[in-house]
Amino acid sequence: MVENPYIVDGHCDSLIHFVNGERTLQDPAEGGHWDTQRARVAGVSLQFLAAFIETRYKPSMATWRGLQLIEGAHRFIADHPDQVFLVQKKLDLEQIPDPTRIGILLSVEGGEILGEAIFMLDIIYKLGVRALGLTWNQRNALADGVGETDTQSRLTQLGQEVILRMNKLGMLIDVSHLNEAGFWHVLELSQDPIVASHSCAKALCAHPRNLTDQQLRALAKQKGLVGVNFYPRFLQETGKATRDDVIRHICHIAEVAGVETVGLGSDFDGISETPEGLEHVGNYGYLIDDLTKRGFSNLEIEQITGRNFMRLLSSVLR
Ligand SMILES: [Zn+2]
Repeated sequence: MVENPYIVDGHCDSLIHFVNGERTLQDPAEGGHWDTQRARVAGVSLQFLAAFIETRYKPSMATWRGLQLIEGAHRFIADHPDQVFLVQKKLDLEQIPDPTRIGILLSVEGGEILGEAIFMLDIIYKLGVRALGLTWNQRNALADGVGETDTQSRLTQLGQEVILRMNKLGMLIDVSHLNEAGFWHVLELSQDPIVASHSCAKALCAHPRNLTDQQLRALAKQKGLVGVNFYPRFLQETGKATRDDVIRHICHIAEVAGVETVGLGSDFDGISETPEGLEHVGNYGYLIDDLTKRGFSNLEIEQITGRNFMRLLSSVLR
């Protein structure tokens, strides 16, 4: 058992539930997958909090909804300074792991927030956003999502400008949900390493949201990484999964692309089902035990559960 677990989770959708007034994200009794209490006990040191822009707001209300979610994140952080703190700069990473507080990295899932204007990228950066998923499953003004099966396009001109501007600002480019042609186009353009914050291995489960071995190797070459998603449909083609399936995907990515290319991207509170044995953030300890049983060293486990994400962020954030 790793004594001081060091967990960085590259994606959760808990923020929506907070902004919608359904939960405070403080108390396990409220239900859901993620709250500060269980996360802290489990050793979560840094949590990416995603502003996921739901389809019903797109396109005309996407900026409005995105800003509402960002405001909610700031309110959440301001209300609980004893429990969480916002991570915006490379220097902030030095505070991690903080013994009592969870670092929060604000990400946006859906380039629709930009309203087709590059200056919006600078605005959300000023609002503390440090990662952006270019698309969800649909096509938008930047690129095609994985659900856009007919066109399979590369990035639009605006999408290309967004990549260059994100590199300049020091924002992490997230390609989870992006189609494969777009993925390769981003790798051609980006000076900085990129992330697939919540995806799995296609060789083990042929879901369009997952990455081929070739994509995994390309991420590794560029020093990026993939956060393994806990959604059973991405883990097992049957749609039923256990914690062991998460381990299988971790092992596969480590084998194909190296242990330094694997991270965690739970998708907690964004997924309708969870793997058996990994139902909520409080169960991370079991995942660490399983990795130990699989023969990973303590250092490798720390890399997988957190250090790889920290390395990536320290090379991207200013
Ligand atoms: Zn997602």
